[in-house]
Amino acid sequence: MNTKVWKVDKYVDNLENNPQVVDAARFLQQNEVVALPTETVYGLGGNAESDAAVEKIFAAKGRPSDNPLIIHIAEKKQLNAFVMEIPEKAEILMERFWPGPLTLIFKKKDGVLSDKATAGLETVAVRMPDHPVALALLKICQLPIAAPSANSSGKPSPTNAQHVIEDLNGKIAGVLDGGSTGVGVESTVLDCTEEVPVILRPGGVTKEQIAAVIGEVKLDSALLDEAAKPKAPGMKYQHYAPNAPLYLVNGSQSFLQDLIEEKQQEGLRVGVLATEESVESYQCDVAIACGRRAELETVATALYETLRAFNLEKVDIIFSEMFPNTGVGHAIMNRLQKAAGNKIIHQ
Ligand code: AMP
Ligand code: MG
Repeated sequence: MNTKVWKVDKYVDNLENNPQVVDAARFLQQNEVVALPTETVYGLGGNAESDAAVEKIFAAKGRPSDNPLIIHIAEKKQLNAFVMEIPEKAEILMERFWPGPLTLIFKKKDGVLSDKATAGLETVAVRMPDHPVALALLKICQLPIAAPSANSSGKPSPTNAQHVIEDLNGKIAGVLDGGSTGVGVESTVLDCTEEVPVILRPGGVTKEQIAAVIGEVKLDSALLDEAAKPKAPGMKYQHYAPNAPLYLVNGSQSFLQDLIEEKQQEGLRVGVLATEESVESYQCDVAIACGRRAELETVATALYETLRAFNLEKVDIIFSEMFPNTGVGHAIMNRLQKAAGNKIIHQ
């Protein structure tokens, strides 16, 4: 299959009449799959009402079929077609955070969406992306669009169109190239079917921000205890992994430097994921600054691109600094722990 690339400037006016976006929407209406920019990462979109389209998403990514997809909409009123009820707290959260990186889980109406999109669950995950190109595309095609991240399953999520091409060229109908994404980590997934909403996956909207508008909010037990079964099926899989083994280092810079030297003596090419504040202080083969520690949002933005950069540098092993587990640091640490397969070296 020849993968089309449509370039579109997200700052131009009237995107709903932009020929590139209109062409991409036509592909979605014909149940083809198309990668699209969002504010978090690039998504791989397909008509959520069509089994054929959803099957193409799973096939292109190599995604396990028990891992349900997030449904993307442009207008709140689209929810009524496939959601049973909208709890009051969800209403408040949508008002405050949509469009934005917050996915809400609702009880599903049967018979509207493809069962493959929801992996046969009785619930459905929905969000409204905060990206002008994504919103224009969704408005033109007037369909609920299922869209997981547009990477091969297990790989770091794509934060620009080039990453999508690296993973999915020839496997999808096209990519809408709207430049680099902003937030850099995926949406927060919040289960709103319980009286007290539960975070199943930390992401772009923090627990603190959610609590500030609805009061009490819980964390899924799997986020606190590795042995517990996660309520979001996708959270049990290894994810985001660079090619070389990644180790998180819980210790000082000099402890990390000792680890580097030990591995270099074994003849390995060593990479370090650091920040702008610390990157100069390591003597290793490839040290990459992943944002600024003083502003964790910049670490989130750069995270997947940095993990992919180590692949290009062909390192044999990567050591990463760790980050505080609060605010957006919670999502950063969650992704890093998954990328590392939970390998943490303590001082
Ligand atoms: P991705 O699209 O790759 O960013 O992943 C979406 C995440 O949301 C995965 O961890 C899914 O397992 C999770 N998810 C999607 N739908 C549901 C649902 N109905 N209930 C629980 N988790 C869900
Ligand atoms: Mg993903």
